[in-house]
Amino acid sequence: MRQKIVAGNWKMNNTLNETKELLKGLKKELKGVKLDNTRVIIAPTFVNLQHAVKKTAKSVLEVSAQNLHQAKNGAFTGEISADMLLDIGVNVVILGHSERRAYFNETDEALAQKVNTAVAKGLDVIFCFGEQLEDRQNENHFSVVESQLKEALFGLQAEAFKNIILAYEPVWAIGTGQTATADQAQEMHEFIRGLLAKAYDAKLADSVSILYGGSVKPNNAEEIFSKPDVDGGLIGGASLKEKDFSAIVKSI
Ligand code: 13P
Repeated sequence: MRQKIVAGNWKMNNTLNETKELLKGLKKELKGVKLDNTRVIIAPTFVNLQHAVKKTAKSVLEVSAQNLHQAKNGAFTGEISADMLLDIGVNVVILGHSERRAYFNETDEALAQKVNTAVAKGLDVIFCFGEQLEDRQNENHFSVVESQLKEALFGLQAEAFKNIILAYEPVWAIGTGQTATADQAQEMHEFIRGLLAKAYDAKLADSVSILYGGSVKPNNAEEIFSKPDVDGGLIGGASLKEKDFSAIVKSI
């Protein structure tokens, strides 16, 4: 049975003190909550990862980074390697977020390299992709998603998908309050699973968790998560509030 996952992408938010407070709040809210076959992941900024790993050691929370560099090490000022993450106990990384693609020019080619590096090191990857508003208006959303997946992921060996979590995040739904409907999410997730089945096989397609991201809130999470091909969510804004995030976790 594939895993359910709720992940919080904190983006460039929370100082160390704010991180401490939010972690405390989350642990309190989630204490004793029964979570069957479900992973709960949070992704603080790089500088607060080490603290987060320490403070979540005895909780259900796992800690993820928001990015990494594809090279092993070297002259890449300002970058962070897979080994550095593993060394401090971080075993998950978000790659391909639309903000990285849009503001930091991350291409499908660079993302393929990043995914390869992360998987080769044994990190789990939450791989983000999704169409722009214009793509959907022009009814190109399926082909855009297909190309993003093909370019960055379908060069991987089947084995590598044990480490891959997919996160469909339509760009028009991120931080806008305009979520995709549960049916729109299901339609795309079913399409994605079909692509995996075509590129690999049905068994692999059935084993990969596909998360939805984009304005998931406590009041819409349950409906979105109820769809058969939606295995959880990648949460932005609502992951910064302990009550909202834990309410979303509880609705999985
Ligand atoms: P929002 O939940 O704020 O729309 O952000 C979604 C997101 O980008 C998660 O990675």
